[in-house]
Amino acid sequence: MTAPIHFDPTRLAAALARTPGRYPLFIDGKSVEAADGRAIERIGPAHGVVVSRYAHAGPIELDRALAAARRAFDHGPWPKTTAAERARVLHRAADRIEADAELIATLDVLESGKPIAQARAEIAGAVDIWRYAAGLARDLHGDSTTAMGEHKLGIVLRDPIGVVSIITPWNFPFLIVSQKLPFALAAGCTAVVKPSEMTSASTLLLGEILAASGLPDGVCNILAGDGPGIGAPMTSDPRVDMVTFTGSTRVGKATMAAAAPTLKKVVMELGGKNAQVIFPDADMEAAIDAAVFGAFFNAGECCNAGSRLIVHRDCADAFTAGFIAAAARVRVGDPLDEATRVGSLISPQHFDLVTGHIDAARRAGADVVLGGGRLAAATGHFLAPTLVAAADPAMAIARDEVFGPVATLMRFDTPAEAAAIANGIDYGLSASVWSRDFDTCIGLSRQIRAGTIWTNTFMDGAAELPFGGFRQSGLGRELGRNAVADYTEEKTLHLHCGPRTAWWTPRAA
Ligand code: NAD
Repeated sequence: MTAPIHFDPTRLAAALARTPGRYPLFIDGKSVEAADGRAIERIGPAHGVVVSRYAHAGPIELDRALAAARRAFDHGPWPKTTAAERARVLHRAADRIEADAELIATLDVLESGKPIAQARAEIAGAVDIWRYAAGLARDLHGDSTTAMGEHKLGIVLRDPIGVVSIITPWNFPFLIVSQKLPFALAAGCTAVVKPSEMTSASTLLLGEILAASGLPDGVCNILAGDGPGIGAPMTSDPRVDMVTFTGSTRVGKATMAAAAPTLKKVVMELGGKNAQVIFPDADMEAAIDAAVFGAFFNAGECCNAGSRLIVHRDCADAFTAGFIAAAARVRVGDPLDEATRVGSLISPQHFDLVTGHIDAARRAGADVVLGGGRLAAATGHFLAPTLVAAADPAMAIARDEVFGPVATLMRFDTPAEAAAIANGIDYGLSASVWSRDFDTCIGLSRQIRAGTIWTNTFMDGAAELPFGGFRQSGLGRELGRNAVADYTEEKTLHLHCGPRTAWWTPRAA
């Protein structure tokens, strides 16, 4: 019997004292309340108290935000501003985010239940991305060709695509908006941003940061609100040119359908059920540590969670024993405690969904060899790190995104079988291969259909590398050297110089 999770009330009081508590919307360069006075009250999932109140945008604020973004794009200075000036604004924003990092991290912890040490690393990562976007802004180039003959010249321009709707989920509130917004701004686009209604505070704070960094009014507008009422019209409104969405595959499909009548460009970062394939010749200690990290990081509420452990039969028993021993050392606790590695799940409803998956796996005959139940705590939704062993790859627990601290272990005999299990689901976001043999690692990495494949590591990220999914994990990529170009349209200028060959009426002699 483990001791109940300990909360130190002074930590919570200090965190709440650091945060503003109330967050207005940000429209056309100004902080505004909702005309109808509606608000969203967020109860922190770990601590069970109200941690923030945001104005809930209604149709009036939505219309004002879309109109402001459209106006700022069609008539404002931002799309015509030099890349050097755009980069200066983004660098200033990065500096301010860095200066406010502790506040932003605290907001994400209070609203999502994630551990503070991890949230600090996420905000540091976000700062790095804003700076990377500022650098890329200076390197946005079109193309040209002289290969069409002496009298012809082709120039390919890259124009900003226009107004971008940015919709983000609750699991990495500030990091995910940072994977989108700075690149849209670097390209010269304008934006309407809607964070998850459960974790809006850190994104709403960005409004003030951007205004103070010199972003012109109307270029970035930030709304808090629900999905159907605010998110859906952001995807269908004809004033919007592009939608970039991160969230569930279910809502991603609805978003594509809503964007179809006006044929907007859509970029989707969706769900995952990611394989970690372990061969007997791997550095077993490192593989076990990475498997535990991959499965339980962010309480498994992570699109990249390495929730499918595909282990060679020859090392499966030793790996399972090592995984259980390592998982027992993972500190689950108060997210405001520096030592915590796994915090609370996002909501009671989500807790029930995750435990529902575990119960269904038990009923289907899978063996829950670790965890599987609630951890005692005065408040919060803490689930013990869970391992489902001896699973059949056809079982729902081995195929569906659980989005909780639940790993499923399957065994294989041949690399072909490992590839078939890895590829045998609807998702294709990421995977890893663990072996000391080069042929094994590269051979399998090439066979697995996923957007990112790690070799002998897991969930490392870098702004320089593109990120996104195959199949139902998404559409398009974020980050990497094309991240700004993704927010542009190519425009061809086809030039003719010198006498043109007449089509119909020859020149008079
Ligand atoms: P969600 O799909 O429920 O919500 C995501 C966002 O969409 C929220 O802001 C929500 O308000 C909004 N929304 C809801 N209904 C909408 C509608 N009809 N039209 C437009 N917007 C709508 O997802 P979630 O529960 O917040 O996040 C968890 C999911 O996100 C998981 O499936 C996870 O895998 C995925 N995710 C993917 C990535 C990635 O990069 N691939 C990263 C993080 C999370």
